[in-house]
Amino acid sequence: MSAPSLGGVSVPRGDGNTVIRLRRGSSITDFADKIEANPAALVTVLFHLGEMATATQSLDEDTFALLGEELGYKLQVVSPEDEERELLSAFDIDVEAELEAEGDEELEARPPVVTVMGHVDHGKTRLLDAIRNSDVVAGEHGGITQHIGAYQISHEHEGALRDITFIDTPGHEAFTAMRARGAKVTDIAILVVAADDGVMPQTVEALNHAQAANVPIVVAVNKIDKEGANPDKVKGQLTEYGLVPEEYGGDTMFVEVSARQNVNIDELIDAVLLTADAALDLRANPDKAARGIAIEANLDKGRGSVATVLVQSGTLAVGDTIVAGTAHGRVRAMFDEDGEALDVALPSRPVQVLGLSNVPRAGDTFLVTADERTARQIAEKREAADRNAQLAKRRKRISLEDFDQAVAEGKIDTLNLILKGDVSGAVEALEDALLKIDVGEGVQLRVIHRGVGAITQNDVNLATVDSAVIIGFNVKPAERVAELADREGVDMRFYSVIYSAIDDIELALKGMLKPEYEEVQLGTAEVREVFRSSKFGNIAGSIVRTGTIRRNTKARITRAGKLIGDNLTVETLKRFKDDVTEVRTDFECGIGLGSYNDITEGDIIETFEMREKPRV
Ligand code: GDP
Repeated sequence: MSAPSLGGVSVPRGDGNTVIRLRRGSSITDFADKIEANPAALVTVLFHLGEMATATQSLDEDTFALLGEELGYKLQVVSPEDEERELLSAFDIDVEAELEAEGDEELEARPPVVTVMGHVDHGKTRLLDAIRNSDVVAGEHGGITQHIGAYQISHEHEGALRDITFIDTPGHEAFTAMRARGAKVTDIAILVVAADDGVMPQTVEALNHAQAANVPIVVAVNKIDKEGANPDKVKGQLTEYGLVPEEYGGDTMFVEVSARQNVNIDELIDAVLLTADAALDLRANPDKAARGIAIEANLDKGRGSVATVLVQSGTLAVGDTIVAGTAHGRVRAMFDEDGEALDVALPSRPVQVLGLSNVPRAGDTFLVTADERTARQIAEKREAADRNAQLAKRRKRISLEDFDQAVAEGKIDTLNLILKGDVSGAVEALEDALLKIDVGEGVQLRVIHRGVGAITQNDVNLATVDSAVIIGFNVKPAERVAELADREGVDMRFYSVIYSAIDDIELALKGMLKPEYEEVQLGTAEVREVFRSSKFGNIAGSIVRTGTIRRNTKARITRAGKLIGDNLTVETLKRFKDDVTEVRTDFECGIGLGSYNDITEGDIIETFEMREKPRV
């Protein structure tokens, strides 16, 4: 048995220090492009290192590192965040450095930005209306109330007039979706709980999301006007989730309100301001070009792109050139939530902007640029990057199998879990049991969200943000959700026996949960005639006897029942003159096994792949 050598395959080698940068999700072909190598040659090299991959499959960072080391290159895999940073630095813009450089002299207090969350029908929309109506200066401008995605009110607090911004898309879906895209909009969350209904599944979901984002929570116990309202019960329930009212010695403010009867709305706003002042340092520099986030946008027949943006620092002015996601343009006009035209918008101000080339997505960042050309170029670069990212499908987050490795490399020390089950008893039992696992030193287990019901898009979004693994107990995801998880590389596991779930997690924590592979035969072909090619070596003119022969799959060769060549790859596959990816039973084809040349008439080529064995 002769081991295939690298002879004949030439790969340009680096000197050990040559740095090659690849975006996350790149494939061997992308790498080959950069070093001007033949992708098939790199597939072979990788194969000799014990890893199987096709030329176009995206590889993870570790595999690239392995391949790079072998060839004398330092491979760097670049995240989308890094890429955005780099993209902007090409235009001399460094938002982070800019923010860090700002000191007390530049910074001025800015209003808090608040999101209202809670279970359906607990009164979020009604409460947002009541808060808006409480605006002490609302009457003055007399404009027409509009829904632009956010509004600002003025409120008298401890003798001073204070502004507060509310995102008026209630619920945590938008909140999580934006966070999944790296946007942090919300400073404080109001958690609405109906006093006659108590804590419900979405209440828990909402508070989990807020806590995961480190956003302080003020609780509005709503509908206290209703018969059967029991605010104390709500307080008791929320204590179990770590929201302990001040009167019980905690630090969460609870305000009993009635959105319908306008009871204690001012007190609720006071509580938001007190919490903000106590917990957060909300300041921004107003004296510079604006930076912020798009929170809503649509295409209007008459006015074109209409985008609501939240200014986070700097001042946005009519006439500025801006770029928001992949949209760019000059600010033609700005309006506030009362339809009043504005010339400038300060930090924390939501404002509707006209003049963009197209519609940004919620959560896209925006910034003001020196000129229109820069804005357009940034937009175009982002568009190109988006397109590439779409191609690089599987972004691997964390999976139970690679957990120990991520720990070993110092990348993480916590295994984040999201638990979903069919009944709450099971979820609780599972969580209890999981938290009892002896996790060992330096590693933690954290359940960042638990809930009853199917796995939702939201769960996947949360898993994406916090690199969590989703555990489904007697529940399955909807089809679209499974697709999303696949696209985002989120590991989902399904169990119907609590102990199997616990076993797997325990093994993962101990670094022992390795995937098991099994060999699956794909096809066999009989060699009829051997052709010699100076370029490709010997080509086996064959007929496919069973299954399908595919290019880039593993192969072995037998002669009269004896193995004569193993660990081979179908490197070229032709039907007559054409390169093909697969050939089926009873068809003739030419098979090239790279540099392996020991082929004779009558040999059998067997191809197979390694598949991950499902766990039972
Ligand atoms: P959302 O789904 O959380 O946005 O809830 P809504 O704001 O749409 O309110 C749901 C229902 O509860 C509506 O019929 C509201 O009129 C009612 N509601 C909201 N707040 C109160 C309240 O303080 N008291 C009473 N009695 N009903 C309320």
